[in-house]
Amino acid sequence: MFHKIRTLFLLGVLSITLTSPLHAEAKLQIVATTTTFADLARQIGRDKVNVKSIASPKFNIHFIQPRPSDVRNTARADLFIFTGLDLEAWVDPLLEAAGKADLFRGGPRNVDLSLGIRLLKVPRGNLSRASGDIHVFGNPHYAMNPENIRIVAGTLLLKLKEIDSANAHDYEANARDFISRLDQKIAGWKALSDPIRGKEVISYHDDFEYMADFLGIKAEQFLEPKPGIPPTPKHLQFLERYGKENHIRAIAMPTYYPKGPVEALAKRIDAKVVMIAQHIGELPGTDDILSFFDYNFSQMTEALR
Ligand SMILES: [Zn+2]
Repeated sequence: MFHKIRTLFLLGVLSITLTSPLHAEAKLQIVATTTTFADLARQIGRDKVNVKSIASPKFNIHFIQPRPSDVRNTARADLFIFTGLDLEAWVDPLLEAAGKADLFRGGPRNVDLSLGIRLLKVPRGNLSRASGDIHVFGNPHYAMNPENIRIVAGTLLLKLKEIDSANAHDYEANARDFISRLDQKIAGWKALSDPIRGKEVISYHDDFEYMADFLGIKAEQFLEPKPGIPPTPKHLQFLERYGKENHIRAIAMPTYYPKGPVEALAKRIDAKVVMIAQHIGELPGTDDILSFFDYNFSQMTEALR
């Protein structure tokens, strides 16, 4: 009995130590699932926050396995931010393992950043993963459109002001500065992509659609017959016909899918393979949000010009 009480007491002390705002130089501790949203949190939080991300950009975000250190960092976090929908299907088990109720879905320190985003490909009718589809709530790769990053910045700013009101003015000034730099870039990217408007690409996974939407190009055919299902010989034959008939000049893919089938198809239809980063740090020269879009947009514009 004594041991039990003592253990509970010690756990209580431990949890107070871990969650106290005075912990670690009183900076707000933020855990983000992706490197992209971690960078956004740093842009708005600057010296008031300490940000960690979970998923390495070198791996497919849908299938990350959080490590014990991710659980520990999440247990210490004051705020947990993530993409939502089906992108990080591993979020709920992680939050449960961390065991901090405020960070659970719907909790006051949990932010689903998909709030307010105009989603593409929201399915009508029954939602089902039975056929292997991993986009059952609509396409979750919305962070590939810089106009969506502006919306997410607003969502994050509101939450930061709410949970750390002492620094609200700083967060607001930082967000204003970031959004004005982003808006300037957006105008430049629109001008850059003008010559490729209306063109079409094939993508490996349905993760290029929001970027295509921003660039005014089409991305409606994918090597995966359904999101999460690897290409089949029959589907590749269809894409070869489709690519030739529609004069497709580029196939977009991130680094972590198998290159073999993409290169073979590209050769048969005489298209270029364009490596497009899905998250910050996946490719050299994609070290923050603005350089990430700079890199991706110039790659795609170059390939289709
Ligand atoms: Zn996906």
